[in-house]
Amino acid sequence: MTSERDIVVIGAGVVGVSAALHLQRRGRSVTLIDRRDPGEETSYGNTGVIEGGTYVPISMPTNPFELIKFLPNTGTAMHFHWRAMPKLVSWLMQLRANSGEAALRRNGGAVMALLEHAIAEHKALMAEAGAEGYLRETGWVRIYRNEAQFAEAGLERRIADETGHKYTVLDPGQLREIEPHIKPVFKKAELWHDIASLTDPGGTVKAYAALFSKNGGTFERTGARRLTQTETGWSVETDSGSLQARDVVVALGPWAMDLLSPLGYRLPFAVKRGYHMHFRPSGNAGLSRPIVDMGYGYAASSMAMGLRVTTGIEFADRDAAPTPVQLDRILPHVRELLPIEDALEPTPWMGRRPSFPDSVPVIGPAPRHPRLWLDFGHAHLGLTLGPISGRLIAEMITGEAPVVDPAAYSAARFG
Ligand SMILES: Cc1cc2nc3c(=O)[nH]c(=O)nc-3n(C[C@H](O)[C@H](O)[C@H](O)COP(=O)(O)OP(=O)(O)OC[C@H]3O[C@@H](n4cnc5c(N)ncnc54)[C@H](O)[C@@H]3O)c2cc1C
Repeated sequence: MTSERDIVVIGAGVVGVSAALHLQRRGRSVTLIDRRDPGEETSYGNTGVIEGGTYVPISMPTNPFELIKFLPNTGTAMHFHWRAMPKLVSWLMQLRANSGEAALRRNGGAVMALLEHAIAEHKALMAEAGAEGYLRETGWVRIYRNEAQFAEAGLERRIADETGHKYTVLDPGQLREIEPHIKPVFKKAELWHDIASLTDPGGTVKAYAALFSKNGGTFERTGARRLTQTETGWSVETDSGSLQARDVVVALGPWAMDLLSPLGYRLPFAVKRGYHMHFRPSGNAGLSRPIVDMGYGYAASSMAMGLRVTTGIEFADRDAAPTPVQLDRILPHVRELLPIEDALEPTPWMGRRPSFPDSVPVIGPAPRHPRLWLDFGHAHLGLTLGPISGRLIAEMITGEAPVVDPAAYSAARFG
């Protein structure tokens, strides 16, 4: 198989599908490739939250004494594989360097510039794809089991106050009025208003991909093996032949460096693994919006396939065997808060959040190769940011005025 087109987008998660749609909308002939069907990896298994307002990146303590509390490795919000640490130590040092308030504000601000457009861009694609049925515009709720946890999240509330993003602090009685199935085992909750959620993130990405195909786009189910520069652009060697294109977009999420490392790129990139499991709710119990139990670092949301419980972060090699100990640890706390029965699958799903240590994605040209475009590293917010990232990269490729200044998302920031 050898054929020629304008652009090949590699990776059909929410990021790649959105880029393909936006390029197609601008008149480009686009081939989208993935070794699986669209939306079946990270973009399937997340919590379904589309953030729309304030964002403070996940950080680590800057005080070395506070780091000691992680050493027993028995927490719920974070778990790590000791054997992965030698490879991760430099990334974690960079995360720590990005954990002071000034850096959190700077990096969070870069992401918030995209968040301003996130819900609107999803809604525009949903309207065309007939996927509005997946959308809930009901905000999300953070649960604080005690006052100390509530105080710890003060920076986010301060930024929200400064930027005019809405949240309401609720006591257990007030939360009961909007979420009657949450048990009152907590002190305080916050309802964040500028946030939406999806009842089936994977289904939504599949609907976007179906729109791409309906509008004449080509989807090929094949693995990409290698990128080679040609006189006119790029050759993508795949499991089933090679594809020639003038431009290539790498939207491979957790697998992006597999194609970029052989070209000499050394970006500070790591994955934060996470798990989910669906549960049968007791009786008619359910949630009208996602919740995050801040003290235990897990989230839960009613999805088309059951009540999905998602874990915090696991630092491990991307391809190491799953170790879903966090699910075991959080389950008693989930049951304290929510009326759930049996798990609906025999084993948990595992995903990998593609992450840079500053929590800002890379969206833009590859620094050393013309016509090679990067769109990955969306970490905890890839579902949210897929459509706006797709629009931004399409605007950059086609030379349109970009909707958001792309400088902050350049890979060149890593030198
Ligand atoms: C537990 C958990 C909860 C989360 N919750 C949220 C949330 O509530 N809100 C939010 O915004 N984000 C959330 N995220 C993050 C979000 O899911 C990711 O950032 C996002 O899905 C990344 O999308 P992507 O398209 O970059 O990657 P992916 O969806 O992983 O897509 C990459 C694609 O590349 C393909 N691929 C890989 N290698 C090859 C190859 N060699 N050739 C061809 N194809 C290949 C894969 O098959 C895959 O389809 C969560 C993540 C996790 C793990």
